[in-house]
Amino acid sequence: MKTRIVVLGAGFGGLELTTILSDALGAEIDLVLIDKADSFVFGFSKLDVMFGRQESAAVRHAYRDIVKPGVRFFKTHVQSIDPTTKRVVTDAGTFDADLLIVALGADIDLSATPGLTEEGTEFYTVPGAFALRDVLATFKGGHAIIGVCGKTFKCPPAPSETALLLHDHLVARGLREVSQISVVIPFGKPIPPSPDTSEAILAAFEERGIQFVKDHLVAALDPVRKIAMLDDGSEMPYALFLGVPVHRLPKVVAESGLADGPWVPVNKQTLETTFPGVYAVGDVNGVGTPKAGVFAEGAARVVAEGIIAKLRGGEAPSPYTGAGSCFIEFGGERVGRVDVNFLGGPKPTGTYQPPSHALGEEKLEFGSSRIQRWFGREWSAKG
Ligand SMILES: Cc1cc2nc3c(=O)[nH]c(=O)nc-3n(C[C@H](O)[C@H](O)[C@H](O)COP(=O)(O)OP(=O)(O)OC[C@H]3O[C@@H](n4cnc5c(N)ncnc54)[C@H](O)[C@@H]3O)c2cc1C
Repeated sequence: MKTRIVVLGAGFGGLELTTILSDALGAEIDLVLIDKADSFVFGFSKLDVMFGRQESAAVRHAYRDIVKPGVRFFKTHVQSIDPTTKRVVTDAGTFDADLLIVALGADIDLSATPGLTEEGTEFYTVPGAFALRDVLATFKGGHAIIGVCGKTFKCPPAPSETALLLHDHLVARGLREVSQISVVIPFGKPIPPSPDTSEAILAAFEERGIQFVKDHLVAALDPVRKIAMLDDGSEMPYALFLGVPVHRLPKVVAESGLADGPWVPVNKQTLETTFPGVYAVGDVNGVGTPKAGVFAEGAARVVAEGIIAKLRGGEAPSPYTGAGSCFIEFGGERVGRVDVNFLGGPKPTGTYQPPSHALGEEKLEFGSSRIQRWFGREWSAKG
């Protein structure tokens, strides 16, 4: 009998896990990969499309291209998960698993911030970011706010990157002198675990006249008066609002009993949930790393190695360390990098490399290598 593995979510975590298991175990497994979308889009591609650096069709990676031994992809919506029986009900039928991996990411909740649905300008969903391309192309200048609406959000550098890329965009369109840019963020620094990275971002903001509003959230918008209300009641007028909406545990996961708090609790070393044989990988878990693709990918590797060891009788893998490298767009095609480690020591650490064209090339290679591995085809994030 083949081991039945069900992977819920074909994002960073689900794709990496599926690829490793297929490469190592191939025909010994029956792996079902499920996603409600028909294609994968990198988080950073959202910024590329929004700022006109890439066409939207070029950054969608169709799941139908996944051809891997032992893997069947189903495009369907997960309706319910029973972690005790490892039974998953979807629009396309019921799937029973011997090993179940939940990699459903974080849901984006526009309705949690009054006025955000009406304003409609956010860059965290695929349709939201892609629609901003036209909004930015026709923006006539004024005050642009990049506003974070919830304390936990994916890719903590993304709001800062967006501010720096917006600066370039406005310079190129001759609108920078009639515009202001502000970033509202719930941290004291842009990247709290890395003081060097934070200092570099703050220096880049100062050079470009970008206002950094620290330790605040955007609590509500008034789209008629074009006012952003912060969590202390203060008001900021805007001509353009680029929002980072509230993130939540996906509803189907909340209803499954896998979590008793905001995210799914896991064993920090193995990523196993409190239900044996059920793992939570990536943004959906509460392991203590920021929510980013590189951490989802690292967690997927540990889970995959653990499954391979279990099925082959080998040694258990090294524990998860919560380490990963994040690339940071500084504008002018220069990219910085911070290597962070959240769980390997007594406190999180971050090592910073200043922005360069060489790191820009490294980031392109990061994207190309994932598409090659996951989808088996050539691709360049450069367009
Ligand atoms: C603007 C932006 C820039 C970013 N830049 C970076 C970066 O440079 N580097 C980096 O590492 N990270 C970056 N990120 C973060 C990164 O995209 C996420 O953290 C990462 O994708 C998380 O991986 P995951 O596998 O946990 O979840 P996801 O990749 O979100 O995948 C979850 C999948 O589950 C599917 N799903 C959800 N619910 C259901 C359901 N009920 N039924 C079926 N399928 C379902 C979704 O369709 C999705 O495909 C960025 C994010 C944004 C928004």
